[in-house]
Amino acid sequence: TTWQVTIGAVALDTGPGVALSFEDITEVEAADAMRRDFVTNVSHELRTPITALSGFIETLRGAARDDAAARERFLAIMAREAARMSQLVADLLSLARVEQGERHRPTAAVDLSALAAQVIALLDPIAARDRVTLSLTAPEPPVIVPGDEEQLRQVITNLVGNAIKYGGAGRAVEVTLGAPEPQPELRGPGVRLVVRDQGEGIAAHHLPRLTERFYRIDQHRSRDMGGTGLGLAIVKHIVNRHRGRLRIESREGQGSRFIVILPVG
Ligand code: ADP
Repeated sequence: TTWQVTIGAVALDTGPGVALSFEDITEVEAADAMRRDFVTNVSHELRTPITALSGFIETLRGAARDDAAARERFLAIMAREAARMSQLVADLLSLARVEQGERHRPTAAVDLSALAAQVIALLDPIAARDRVTLSLTAPEPPVIVPGDEEQLRQVITNLVGNAIKYGGAGRAVEVTLGAPEPQPELRGPGVRLVVRDQGEGIAAHHLPRLTERFYRIDQHRSRDMGGTGLGLAIVKHIVNRHRGRLRIESREGQGSRFIVILPVG
């Protein structure tokens, strides 16, 4: 525990006196440390593409000036690095927006069934590139939850996107939406959205940390796939804002299940 002690002068009946106030600032300090870490991480994440871009600009001005093939190759890498930076900034903005609104629960009626179908249709061509098959099982009638449509779209997009990225080429990714039913985790009625992949799975010691910002099991792999390391942090905050729960179940070698439980009332 960290105490902040403030000393001040006060007037007492008996003459001038001193007042000491003690305040527990453990939480304030922890929040400060987190913010410092976050700024360090963001700076780090931005420095890598910036260094690459500066390096290639120099090369294009010098050695590669008259080499058309090299120029094309370097420009392709530069475009990729620029795209990575813009994805990082987009993710940082989403995270900030979600965090700012975290205290206010969104209440618009969102058709989760339609949303899941739209996301799957949108990601299908990307999955097809890796021969990943996407499927959706949803109940009738469509599932409606109170929420923010764009944010819930992002939850499904991030989870299905990860399942495609980490689920392994040629494997299946299954999205299952359940009908409303009592959810012990919520102490009330809710629905479950499960995204299941057949990838290599996640070792138990990583599970509790996966939703931390910039936590990645394999830095290089995530970067190569254009990951920012913020996807699951965004998912967690959006689910929190909806007063839901996120559960991750996985075993090495047996794929993963990302389960979002959302209240219906
Ligand atoms: P990233 O942009 O790196 O994908 P995320 O926050 O979405 O960031 O995920 C954090 C890390 O969790 C990933 O780098 C990856 O190591 C791991 N991860 C996420 N989804 C899966 C999955 N379906 N299977 C295995 N590992 C996963």
